[in-house]
Amino acid sequence: MNPRDRVLNALTGKSVDRIPVTAVTQTGTVEFMEATGARWPEAHSNPELMVKLALAAYELAGLETARIPFGLTVLADALGAEVNMGTIDRQPSVREHPYSSGLSEFKIPENLLELKRIPVVLEAVHLLKEKVGGSLPVIVGFEGPATLAGHLMGIERMAIWTRKKPVEVKRALEAATEVNVRYAEALVKAGADVLVPCDPSASSDLFNPKDFEAMIKPFLARLAEEIRAVKVLHICGKVTPIVRAMAETGYDSLSIEEKVNMKEAKRLAGDLATIVGNISPAKTLLLGTPQEVKKESVQAINDGADALAPGCGLAPRTPIANLKAMVEAALKYKS
Ligand SMILES: [Zn+2]
Repeated sequence: MNPRDRVLNALTGKSVDRIPVTAVTQTGTVEFMEATGARWPEAHSNPELMVKLALAAYELAGLETARIPFGLTVLADALGAEVNMGTIDRQPSVREHPYSSGLSEFKIPENLLELKRIPVVLEAVHLLKEKVGGSLPVIVGFEGPATLAGHLMGIERMAIWTRKKPVEVKRALEAATEVNVRYAEALVKAGADVLVPCDPSASSDLFNPKDFEAMIKPFLARLAEEIRAVKVLHICGKVTPIVRAMAETGYDSLSIEEKVNMKEAKRLAGDLATIVGNISPAKTLLLGTPQEVKKESVQAINDGADALAPGCGLAPRTPIANLKAMVEAALKYKS
């Protein structure tokens, strides 16, 4: 089995020769940047550099993935949010929210796919498909509905309005979802194998499970329905209380952090979705030893992970040695 088939099969619950070791969240690290010459912040805006850096995760560490981009601001940027492009070891971040009075007047720009870095990502998907499309899964992440709505109107405002003006929040989520749908369609057309709406703002750390069920779940489900590729839902944080609801939204797989117990997640998701994760990107991959990475990886495999992966985006200073330790743990499980 090649990495592409192995990952796609594992995410969709089909049989595999061994557990894949992949990443569905951001993979850019400083060591990869130094080795390839494709550095942040330039690699966020240049398709060739984006591809080079994405391929380093497989070529230099063995992670079975060709995953872009390296942050969660592409859509917000295209829709007029002011974005700080960060540094070699700091991801881009949204500085100002263009729709602080709500999104009731919002219309999707006709030329959405031509705005800011959207063409960069689409071109990078094309290039990856051409270069490695037969052997590696081309995986693209983007801001999910709650995160994009939060970027556009301000997340604190969104949290307050969830109580005070729920209709406004629903409108914002609806607008963000429609943008997601349009973008997803273009990504699949460009050749993406796997789409990963990343929705940290939908996390139980921000919304209680009832609000998630009522406000956010329907929009995630609507997006899932429209994605014509393998689909993975990533929500950060301690999402145990909403894992079942996440599994009910129709994604093939759920990407979870180490704050969620793997066994528990598997039990809650049942046969509705596979689970990918959940090696700690900070505690273990960034700050731990290769030995500790191996131990946590073996634990995740024993607990039933369908695909082994970092639980969230890699910290830029993550050492390659720790990523390789994760890969070794998965390979050892072959027999
Ligand atoms: Zn995350």
